[in-house]
Amino acid sequence: MNKIIKIQATGNSDVLQLSDESFSSPGKDQASVRVILAGVNFIDVYHRRGQYELPLPSRLGLEGIGEIIEIGAENIDLKIGDTVFWTSTLGSYSQYINVPIDQLTRIDSKTKLNPDQILPLLLQGMTAHYLANSAYLVNKGDTALVTAAAGGVGQLLVQLLKAKGVKVVALASSIERANYAKNVGADFAGTYQDIADLVNEATSGTGVNVVYDSVGIDVFDYCLNSLAWKGMYVLYGAASGAVPPFDLMRLNAKSLSIRRPSLGAYTQNHAERFSRFNEMVELTLAGKLKFPAAKVFPFSQAKQAHDLIESRTYSGKIALDPWL
Ligand code: NDP
Repeated sequence: MNKIIKIQATGNSDVLQLSDESFSSPGKDQASVRVILAGVNFIDVYHRRGQYELPLPSRLGLEGIGEIIEIGAENIDLKIGDTVFWTSTLGSYSQYINVPIDQLTRIDSKTKLNPDQILPLLLQGMTAHYLANSAYLVNKGDTALVTAAAGGVGQLLVQLLKAKGVKVVALASSIERANYAKNVGADFAGTYQDIADLVNEATSGTGVNVVYDSVGIDVFDYCLNSLAWKGMYVLYGAASGAVPPFDLMRLNAKSLSIRRPSLGAYTQNHAERFSRFNEMVELTLAGKLKFPAAKVFPFSQAKQAHDLIESRTYSGKIALDPWL
């Protein structure tokens, strides 16, 4: 049997149910994987709440690390026993999962990191990587505003931007949380209420070149107003709610741009996924990225794991171990 977490209806974390289901052989384009750790991400919360719609009932979770136990068709790149990761297969909160082969990336057996150290570098880490390197081409000397900067993606993003010579203004919901971002290198850090003062101080009133925002509706207007002429708003999440449609003429006064990116578009093939992941691993091994190992919950405590990611009190990766 296969223990999984599923939802029959959308709602708060009480809707998460532990259940036993049978497990089928992989299709010819799939590999069966024994899950070692499943990642808990904010997108799982959007799915659970119904903010991003799924047909119900539904499994949950997109990300994991595991070991291949069967392969649907002969494959030159992967073999039984390989440790692999994936970031976009629904149903990852399970003991076993069939993952499309083209979504699997092998983790080198010589990698000197444990699964709980690797997990923060997957969905969160590759997101921080594409934001800093591809969603907007930052220049040395640019100033960037980062919201949710104490979060899993946020703290990694701050560090990647600093390594590129960018001045970083970091925002979080409390001074204590803003200090997490300060401790990993942010030049200016404060709460969302401090946004105008911090941006003025950091840029002498000219505004930031780029905003990286995953909070959404609650801060959208303030962030838009913080941009310099020809600035770019990279809106990559909606933790407080989605930004509703708005008049594009609002961008006109300062010739602003908005990008609404997704990780899938920046990890479209194996080579791109591997190079982002590998660079994050190398930076970690070189001591250039600091982050805590994933906080692991037993499967029976999926509710507590979701409550923690929504609590705005934790900073780092959260994971589920389906075997505890
Ligand atoms: P985090 O660890 O960053 O947790 C979310 C953070 O959002 C919280 O810590 C909280 O920080 C902040 N927040 C602001 N408003 C709210 C609210 N109303 N309710 C809850 N939290 C709120 O999560 P992740 O690192 O996993 O993800 C960060 C963001 O990145 C998410 O919004 C996610 O959807 C997005 N994302 C987008 C991807 C993409 O490609 N587009 C891919 C991966 C993630 P604080 O209290 O300090 O404000």
